This record gives sequence, structure tokens and C-alpha cells, in this order.
Amino acid sequence: MSIKKRFQPRLEQREADYLYRRRPLVFSAQQPDMNINGIECINFSSNDYLGLANHPQIKQALIEGLQTQQDLSYGSGAAHLVTGHHLHHHLLEDELADWLGVERTLLFSTGYMANLAVQQTLMHAGDIILADKLNHASLIDGARLSEADFKRYPHLDMQALERRLQQAQAKHSQAMIVTDGVFSMDGDIAPLKAMQQLAQKYQAWLFVDDAHGIGALGEHGKGCFEHFGLQPDENTILVGTLGKAFGTSGAFVAGSSVLIESLIQFARPYIYTTAMPQLNALAIREALKLVKNGQASRETLQQNIKHFREGALQIGLQLWPSDTAIQPIMLGKSDTAVEWSEALKQAGFWVTAIRPPTVPQNQARLRVTLSAIHTPEQIDQLLDALKAIQSTSSV
Ligand SMILES: *Cc1c(COP(=O)(O)O)cnc(C)c1O
Repeated sequence: MSIKKRFQPRLEQREADYLYRRRPLVFSAQQPDMNINGIECINFSSNDYLGLANHPQIKQALIEGLQTQQDLSYGSGAAHLVTGHHLHHHLLEDELADWLGVERTLLFSTGYMANLAVQQTLMHAGDIILADKLNHASLIDGARLSEADFKRYPHLDMQALERRLQQAQAKHSQAMIVTDGVFSMDGDIAPLKAMQQLAQKYQAWLFVDDAHGIGALGEHGKGCFEHFGLQPDENTILVGTLGKAFGTSGAFVAGSSVLIESLIQFARPYIYTTAMPQLNALAIREALKLVKNGQASRETLQQNIKHFREGALQIGLQLWPSDTAIQPIMLGKSDTAVEWSEALKQAGFWVTAIRPPTVPQNQARLRVTLSAIHTPEQIDQLLDALKAIQSTSSV
């Protein structure tokens, strides 16, 4: 059978189901005022929570680095274990570890790869992975790569998790609890205090993917652990990604020395891939300075979240219980979500429709994300546009 014969019908079905995905083409810098697909719009879809993606200080650090450091190649040339582990990678790992108060961190090129690495490396046949039902796709794929058993518990349901931990004690040699810190399509936060207690009670390992918390949550931006006044313990694995609040790209795993050494020795997505460009590590080091000094931005972000939620509830939109920058507007059917997203585009706002399989059936939504560099006026304009669309929609 030809590729065409197999896939043409699938593509057509996807289109008919309002599930077809297209890549919007961006003609401007990554910031609230954008030109996407030729449309001048205000962007409420990116994960640039602190407004660092186009920050002048990061660009300046790159320019100065290139001008003053003769030994700064762009490409890293090889994997970390070969000749690709440059000084900026190494310094960045130390700086991240110091900042988070963990023994060590390890850089990965993307969060997706970090998440492929952790479960595959740490969890073996005879073990069990217990995952929140709404975990990010990369965590699910990571579990698939592991030989451990895999069970999901209902979203945030700590009683169900405890039952599964009890069952695991009899049947499995080691359990790992796996969760998003901030859930990427919902914006709610995992109850880490209870999870850490459960992990300790049942000697399970706790793996938290804090892609949307790191940089944005906690007084010092250390993410969901700091948000709850907690500290990762020796059996915690923390993943942070650098393409969201850090405005750059890449990810890290943070934890004990033994954890990090084990990943260096055994994690295939670490070993068999070229190190990220060291210039990116330089940019992330600058972003870390901005995140550390980002109290004011985090406060502005919180004000923007509050402003949006109050306005949206006032006009009767169905929000999710989220206190984070991710604010889904629940619409149900995929075609409704697409219609709203298109109408917003016409009005000059970029808000992505999120549909199955990214979210469960009949839970299509608009995913509004807020940034510290949105102005209150921009948020008010979005609310006005939503109100106008709502008055002509059947939802
Ligand atoms: C974005 C995201 C990732 C993937 O990180 P990348 O660096 O973009 O590959 C992993 N987990 C969660 C929860 C995410 O939202």
C-alpha cells in the first residue's frame, strides 16, 4: 500500500472532524503584539509567561558573548559525552542546582526528551508508574518507553492514588508517581504536599514535570514546590522546561547526584543526541538572572490572571478552577472551539482552540495564556471580543 493510500483518508477524516491542525506562520517577534498568518493580533496563546522570549537583555548577552568570547562556537559539535559539553552548559547546570537547592541538574535539548529519559531509565520490569490521567503527552510517551507497568489515576484524586500505592506495595518492587506540576491544558496545580507525603509513606519516587511552574510560580520563581513551601527530597525528580517562562528552549532534570549520574550513564535520550548549542545555554544563563529577579513580573502576571478571571466570570464564561497563567474557556465541542478561535482571529486576538486528542472528548476549549507583559487594556479588549462572540454563539 502506498503512503498516500493509507493516509489520504485519515487526513480527510481529520478535516471533517474539525481536528485538522495547521501551523500558524509567525512574521513578528514572539511577544503580545504579533503578526501571525499575516493577521495583526494580540497573542494569548504562547507560554512566554514572563515576557522573556524577546527580552533585550538576553539578546544583548548573546551579542556580547559572540563579540567578546573567541571560543564561543555556535554548534556544540557532538553529544555531551563526546565533545559537546561546553563551559556554558556546565555553568548553567551548576547555577540551576544552586538556585533550586538541589544537588545537581542535567540539561536536555527539550522537555519532551527529558520526559522520555526519566521513566525509561529509572523504572524497570516489575516496577509501576502511577500517572495522573491528564499528564502531558511527553510523560505518557516516557512511560511507554519504560518496561514498568503503567496505571493512571483520576485527575488529582489522592484517594485513588493512595489505593494504587497500597496495591503496588504487594505486587511491585518500586512505584513512581508521575504528575504535571501545573497541568498544561487545564492550569490547575498538582497537590504536591499530599503527593510528597504519600510518596514518603509508601517509599515511592515522585516525578514532577513543572514545565509551566518553573519561573512563573513561587516567590522566587522556583515553581510549584516553592508555591507550596516545599523542597524536593532525595527521591524527587523534578523536570523544568526552558521554552516557557524562561523564554528560551531546552529543559533540565533536577535532583540528587545519584539521579543525575544515573541519567548520564543510562538515559538514551541524553546519550545519543547532540548537545544543545552552547549559545542557547548562554541565553538561558541570562534568562535565569531575569527569572531570579522576576518578582515584579510574577506579581504583574498574577494581577493579569486575576483581571482576566474576574472579567471572564462576569460575562458568564465557563472557566476551569485555575490560578495560573493557563486559563481554559470550556466550550465542549471541537467545532465550537474552532468557531470561537476563528471569530477571535477576525477581531484581532490569537487564542488557540484545544481539541481531542490533546484533551478528552467533548472538552474542547480555548486555551488563554497570560503573560506579565500583557497590558490590562489588552486583556479588556480580549474580554470585549469574547463577550461579542458569546452573544452570537449557541454556547
Ligand atoms: C511543553 C511541555 C513539555 C515539553 O517541553 P518542551 O521543552 O517544549 O519539549 C513537557 N511537559 C509539559 C507539561 C509541557 O507543557
